[in-house]
Amino acid sequence: MKRTLRIISTAIFVMLACKTLTPKSTTEAPVIEVPPTKTPAPTETVIDEPVDPMAGSSGMGDSLYPGFGNGGYDSISYTLNITVNDVATSDLSAITAIEAVATQELSRFNLDFAGFEITGITVNGEAAEFDRKGQELTIIPSQVLSKDESFTVVVSYQGIPNPMQSQALPFPTGWIVYDGGIFVLSEPDGSASFFPVNDHPLDKATYTIIVTVPEPYEVAANGVLQDEVDNGNTTTYTFTVRDPMASYLTTININDFDVETMESAGGIPIRNYYAASLPDDVNKPFARQGEMIDYFSELFGPYPFEVYGALVMDTYFGAALENQTMSIFGMDMVDLDDIEGTESVVAHELAHQWFGDSVSVADWSDIWLNEGFATYGEALWVEYDYGREGLDDWVASVYTEVNEYPEFYPPPGSPAPYDLFNGGVYLRGGLTLHALRLEVGDEAFFEILRAYYDRHKYGNASTEDFIAIAEEIRGKDLTDLFDAWLFDEDLPPMPGIE
Ligand SMILES: [Zn+2]
Repeated sequence: MKRTLRIISTAIFVMLACKTLTPKSTTEAPVIEVPPTKTPAPTETVIDEPVDPMAGSSGMGDSLYPGFGNGGYDSISYTLNITVNDVATSDLSAITAIEAVATQELSRFNLDFAGFEITGITVNGEAAEFDRKGQELTIIPSQVLSKDESFTVVVSYQGIPNPMQSQALPFPTGWIVYDGGIFVLSEPDGSASFFPVNDHPLDKATYTIIVTVPEPYEVAANGVLQDEVDNGNTTTYTFTVRDPMASYLTTININDFDVETMESAGGIPIRNYYAASLPDDVNKPFARQGEMIDYFSELFGPYPFEVYGALVMDTYFGAALENQTMSIFGMDMVDLDDIEGTESVVAHELAHQWFGDSVSVADWSDIWLNEGFATYGEALWVEYDYGREGLDDWVASVYTEVNEYPEFYPPPGSPAPYDLFNGGVYLRGGLTLHALRLEVGDEAFFEILRAYYDRHKYGNASTEDFIAIAEEIRGKDLTDLFDAWLFDEDLPPMPGIE
């Protein structure tokens, strides 16, 4: 995710809000508006029933968000089949089919799912009972599933999705309707706002996304468009996602689009979707994506997926998100008077396809492995255009920013659960990689990045995994460096910067 200058303004907002919430005076009773970042997440619901050893757990045990995801099974594939009856209200009817494997004997198991009326659930074709508490959907199959058994869950539902108010950040995520169309931006836990899901990056799966929309709307989703069927008054789009994907990267976007296709010199197909109401030159900052893909492929290892592209919506949402194979940008993230500045956001989201999407966090507290790496991807793109001098200028300006406003840039290794995307995981996370590069030298540094990517691609990694690879390749204990950069309150000195 990228929030450029908004990182700072959000940090200010959170700080002011925290101050408001700790009143020292009893003489005044100001109206206190509880900021959304403090709202307890409904996903923290704990099922308070007698412990059944055959029940799958209601959470994945994440250190920041223990209720995210569920245990007892491993999902293999999702087929989302969503019919949008009315785009303006987002009234929809849908069927989600999940192929999974039980990792223990299961009398019941959970999915994360918010809202909607559930009209039926089957497990292996037989009707199943279910129970809902907050975001936890508990499914009780008619027969106990054995360990290692493959099974299929089909959930039918209808209604109007509500955006997710995550505890991790101060704006709504998930399925969002606005007056021009619909977009989906779900990091970290918005996916449950539109389909039942094992919603944690540890359980990746492949996806088939089938969406039917009334004419004249069009659909853009992850992966490759396999089929587009004209049903008369509606159109059905089918997309397939070949490689395993973390659930939060699932995206479905509905609008009238101008589609632009090209290919990188290295042969990666690119399709960009621009909301048709945007200016004709909205594509300018995206023109060099092919060059970026080939350059990052050289630095990190071959581009992970079968396709790439950007999607720009004609609305403001103050963010861009690296949805797998299709990064999404709010129109406020695209500044046509600053093509180079916008290109750095484009480079950021592209770098995430390796770091975040292919190598995903094992725990949300490892978020700097996404954001620090993508931020350093911006620096590498500057270095591509302006050489070492450009890189050094980038590092100097980022270091100055972090050094002057330490309150906005906490140590990246231990983010607070209510402020996952703080400025520290971005800028100080990026500086951490630069400090490592200065310590080990360019050759070892890029060998570390490539080995880290290669060993964990299409899977997950933790901060410890990254440190272990860095130490192995450097042949030296690097505890002091990583402790100082990731966990010390004080910003460590950067060699070469006063
Ligand atoms: Zn990012």
